[in-house]
Amino acid sequence: MSFLGENPELGYPLVAAAGLAMGSFLSVVVTRMPPRIRWKNRRKAYEALDTTDYYDPPPSSVLTGKSRCPHCRATIRWYDNIPLLSYLLLGGKCRNCGAPISKLYPALELVTMIVTLLSVWRFGFGWQGFGAMLFGWFLIALSTIDLRDGILPDRLTLPLMWLGLVASTDRLFIPSKPALLGAMGGYLIFWFVSGLFKQIRGKSGLGRGDYKMLAAIGAWVGADMLLPTIAISSILGILIGGGYMVATKRSANNPVAFGPFLAFTGFALLLIGHDEVVTWIQQLGGLFR
Ligand SMILES: [Zn+2]
Repeated sequence: MSFLGENPELGYPLVAAAGLAMGSFLSVVVTRMPPRIRWKNRRKAYEALDTTDYYDPPPSSVLTGKSRCPHCRATIRWYDNIPLLSYLLLGGKCRNCGAPISKLYPALELVTMIVTLLSVWRFGFGWQGFGAMLFGWFLIALSTIDLRDGILPDRLTLPLMWLGLVASTDRLFIPSKPALLGAMGGYLIFWFVSGLFKQIRGKSGLGRGDYKMLAAIGAWVGADMLLPTIAISSILGILIGGGYMVATKRSANNPVAFGPFLAFTGFALLLIGHDEVVTWIQQLGGLFR
């Protein structure tokens, strides 16, 4: 089913524009959500201590407050806020003070556009295509926040998990049973692995955010995709994250975020499709027989 009738290819420029706009929104989410979470945590701590002495004003929430240049605080005009285009026209510099604009913005816009286009290219202009892009958008926000702030906020991981479970009730990608087991199994596997590491090495690189993120991915790709997800994202993490840590001489006490590798693998597996991945795994298994 397509809302564009006989010319579905006309939808691609439209979807590309929507992807750029969503990327622009995601850049607001990833820059505003973590300071807001830290502020709320401080507030709770002061309330628990029965003191208002250290109350600080709340930072902008995701949906309110104008975009400002972090350098000169000048309000960014709508025509300087057009995804990708404005960055290029402004030469990557603030119109008011000339301070460089973070490359995060054009990068997020570009990646979000690609993920959005891939979703409709693979699943078409219907609910399945929309479901895939929704999954991708959440994963982009989570990855970026994990890279920048080292957290995977509940307010993103939990809705992503619920959305996956809801989508499964209509069998959007997988039936409800593997989705439910995927959500539970994802959390439990990482909880168990993390506990094991704590016993052996005294600490583990996984946090509760990672458990919930794997639960969310499990709700979308299914329980039998959990082990492939963990295996592939670990290999990517060791090769890319490990390489990066060696290159930048980062200490093992300050490991690279795991969220982006989980996200990439989860999205790739959803895009390839459950049955295709199972066939590949069977063929791979045949090589060792
Ligand atoms: Zn400025």
